[in-house]
Amino acid sequence: MPRNREHGREYLRQWRARNPRRVAEYNKRLNASRLNDEYRAARREWDRTTRKRETARTRDRRHARKYRQKYPEKERAKRQVRTAISRGDLKRQPCVFCGKPGHAHHPDYSKPLEVVWLCRQHHADLHNGRALKAKVK
Ligand SMILES: [Zn+2]
Ligand SMILES: [Zn+2]
Repeated sequence: MPRNREHGREYLRQWRARNPRRVAEYNKRLNASRLNDEYRAARREWDRTTRKRETARTRDRRHARKYRQKYPEKERAKRQVRTAISRGDLKRQPCVFCGKPGHAHHPDYSKPLEVVWLCRQHHADLHNGRALKAKVK
């Protein structure tokens, strides 16, 4: 077989020498298809990353909307607290844990004016489920 392969290679070389135009054409087509492949791969990559980014953004938007729809009572409770404070029915209190300026936390949104006053940090801790839950009733 090596003889045959040698022979084939030689034959190809001669053929190329005899047909430079066809070789050029062939190379051109080969390059074009290679470029095409590269282009397609790049395009695929771009699609993948860009689409991911797009969906992340739309997903956030959708979540925010869903959250508002899911907890309309939360928005309502917050609004009622603001109104009550502006009327003087409710007074802003310091954080029950540390005494820093507090804002209203609702243990129960169906009772919008029953609030626990918490500073930003302790409010965040509570919502993150850290250790405080038992103390706040
Ligand atoms: Zn809260
Ligand atoms: Zn606090």
